[in-house]
Amino acid sequence: MTMARRETIAEDGTAGGGPMNVARQEAAPEDGTAGEAPQRPRIKPEHRAYRTTEGNVRIGGVVYGIGAEIADPGGWVWTLAEAMDGTRSPAEIRAEVVRAHPELPEHAVRQAMADLQAAGYVDDAAPAASPEPSARERSRYDRGVALLRWMDRTPRTDPWQAQDLLRRARVLLVGIGGTGGFAAQSLVASGVGHLHCVDPDVVELSNLNRQPLFREPDLGRPKTDAALSSLRSLNSDVTVTAARHTVRSPACFHALLTTPPAGTAPPGVRDLPVYDLLVLAADRPAEIRAWANEVCLELGVPWVDGGYQGPLVSAGVHVPGRGACWECLRAGEAERRETGQADGDAGAPIPTSSPAGAVTAGMSGLLLAHAALALLTGVPPMEPGFRFGLNLMLPGDPVLERHPRRPDCPACGDTRPTGVPSGGAS
Ligand SMILES: [Zn+2]
Repeated sequence: MTMARRETIAEDGTAGGGPMNVARQEAAPEDGTAGEAPQRPRIKPEHRAYRTTEGNVRIGGVVYGIGAEIADPGGWVWTLAEAMDGTRSPAEIRAEVVRAHPELPEHAVRQAMADLQAAGYVDDAAPAASPEPSARERSRYDRGVALLRWMDRTPRTDPWQAQDLLRRARVLLVGIGGTGGFAAQSLVASGVGHLHCVDPDVVELSNLNRQPLFREPDLGRPKTDAALSSLRSLNSDVTVTAARHTVRSPACFHALLTTPPAGTAPPGVRDLPVYDLLVLAADRPAEIRAWANEVCLELGVPWVDGGYQGPLVSAGVHVPGRGACWECLRAGEAERRETGQADGDAGAPIPTSSPAGAVTAGMSGLLLAHAALALLTGVPPMEPGFRFGLNLMLPGDPVLERHPRRPDCPACGDTRPTGVPSGGAS
């Protein structure tokens, strides 16, 4: 059984309805299983299969990156898809398909089921063995978990596993202005375990056009205090802490990443990070991204950054040891754009205190939260070392910066005195 999955946008820019761009054989482990074996395998409700007019079986709908089409001249793939409705054991499913198609060897059905599971189309309709979410968690997160299940390409029998990864995650957020405030709201609403917010400023009237985390009664309050009130009342099941602090050097980042917030835990092991992820949404000082890159490389901490430059909104995804670091991307982008700007920043959508509205701040913050959630849960899978976003001037004109890691990079290159950590992905 060969699945052809939509992985890219067609050259004419259309995302739906076009022919398959990429045919790819989904690999399955040799033992014919992928991840835990479901007791009652079910095609995920969001990936419900249907037959196309050409007689193929389409699974996962028409979304690029999810949907795939399977040739089915003998009709047995459709029988299989119908049998995988969560009411049968794997053996009963195989028997059902072979009964309807006696010419088919059972191992072909077994392999097809393994392929579908490996591709992320299958979950388990049987009750999960892992701790069940509470009624409160179900009520709060059900819709989000269904979205995780839809976008998840990791073979997981229980969609709550991804939510549980999020519940156990500790995140350091630096900067709670527009971009950071929207990101914080999304992470807290989504159910991240612990969010620690760092910002030096107080709420000013000029913030309120793009920072709806804050309200008029917050004017004059430290942003950290106002953010605590707002975020804790949004989701009291999340641990939210904050510290009023200015990042002035790489050493500040190092201390922030390796010191547990006061009162939350005993002091960590010296020089080991106490967070799973850094979310950077600050734009001052100008070197702050370079510092974050340097310290996250040193500590092996994945990080994301977001912002806007006029109508360009974007977020960057960085994991030490995997792909380009922030400096590599910056250098690659300066070469690609060839603007001749001497400082090398050439049009990269780096946030400044420049013109911004609720929409540009909101979109960059939400892209930032999306990147953070993807790294924490693996949903959707992201190959790090890139920057993505959009140009609000021209719908359909994406921001996409992806460059190879540079061996001569001053931050992560091979000639650095200390090696780049290889781990850190989560
Ligand atoms: Zn680099």
